[in-house]
Amino acid sequence: MSDIDLEQWNDWRWQLRNRIRTLDDLRKYVQVSSDEAAGIEAVSRSCRWAVTPYYASLMDREDRNCPIRRQAIPSGLELRESFGTLDPLREEEHSPVESLIRVYPDRVAFCITNQCPTFCRHCLRKRLVGEVDRHLSRGHTQRGIEYIRAHEEIRDVLLTGGDALLFPEDRLEDLIAQLRQIPHVEIIRLGTRTPCTMPQRITAKLCDTLEKYHPIWINTQFNHPKEITPEAEEACARLLKAGIPLGNQSVLLRGINDTPEVMKKLVQELVRIRVRPYYLYQAQTLKGTEHFIVPIETGIEIIRNIRGFTTGFAEPKYVLDTPYGKIPMGPQYMVRRDGDYWVLKSFGGKIWREFNPPSLGQSACPNESTPLATEGSGRHGPGADPCHSSRST
Ligand SMILES: *Cc1c(COP(=O)(O)O)cnc(C)c1O
Repeated sequence: MSDIDLEQWNDWRWQLRNRIRTLDDLRKYVQVSSDEAAGIEAVSRSCRWAVTPYYASLMDREDRNCPIRRQAIPSGLELRESFGTLDPLREEEHSPVESLIRVYPDRVAFCITNQCPTFCRHCLRKRLVGEVDRHLSRGHTQRGIEYIRAHEEIRDVLLTGGDALLFPEDRLEDLIAQLRQIPHVEIIRLGTRTPCTMPQRITAKLCDTLEKYHPIWINTQFNHPKEITPEAEEACARLLKAGIPLGNQSVLLRGINDTPEVMKKLVQELVRIRVRPYYLYQAQTLKGTEHFIVPIETGIEIIRNIRGFTTGFAEPKYVLDTPYGKIPMGPQYMVRRDGDYWVLKSFGGKIWREFNPPSLGQSACPNESTPLATEGSGRHGPGADPCHSSRST
């Protein structure tokens, strides 16, 4: 790869144009065994694949279990169909208008493109990764905006895809500008994996554009410490400098990040580059991704090994996404109620008993309308009540 000049390499359009999509190209980066090659050929017939030269350059040449390779190179295992569905979140049912998904009352996900720099083999929305790149049409984009404008309860709009940062830049700005005009839209979020798979996309021009429409938040997806390269770190630094808070949404993936050691390293590397671990997703029971799924018990153990053992905000929320929303999972620290006490367990396993009688709230903070509070006993009067002492009246 020494014949590629640096200027080209650092140009995201070059990265996108020169994605690896054939076995011959892939062989320039890694050794491919004959059974791997057969798997790639077989999967290619039904599901596309593409890898940016940058992401491919992170692959281990010899090790077929390299975490970068596993996420980006198709495997014959994707053709096993023992369980799972194509749309486990039943997103199609939660779509009031084309490409807009509404599960929560106050926020929507708006899928504006099916394009991605690298097509993750574990992708939740594989069903949308067709043979052709498709951005949401202008008409459908406008209909989505109208829906949001008409629903005043929507205060948070999440632009995703595919990868939101592969939507044409002028149209992205136009969309964000229109959303900003809607008084009830408080925050705009972008979902993009470009900081991880194509950090060259985070140009100064993009940052200047986004900065005009604050509050903008970005969530990205790093799944393994190997992905946290100087290039990725610089891309994140540019976004942070533009005032955009960064969160990370990892997917728990078998053989990639399913040990406490790897996950702890990942979240610590993330906080080092100032990306806050936000969610750790349980992999969905999605057709063709069975080989990535890890038991929920393993995920819980991983979280147990993070809570208390490293920086508090390095701990992501472990969640299962469902058609009813994201459901938090994790170790149980509240053991049981025991009479007037709550029995709790600390991260190291030590037991703590907290005095918390059922009557606690009532005796400490009487409702002002109760006879006791108005009788001026001194003890329960509003002035002497610790719950009301900070009131300005
Ligand atoms: C994940 C998701 C959101 C955002 O959820 P947060 O918990 O607020 O990050 C919104 N809408 C849909 C459909 C989602 O799947």
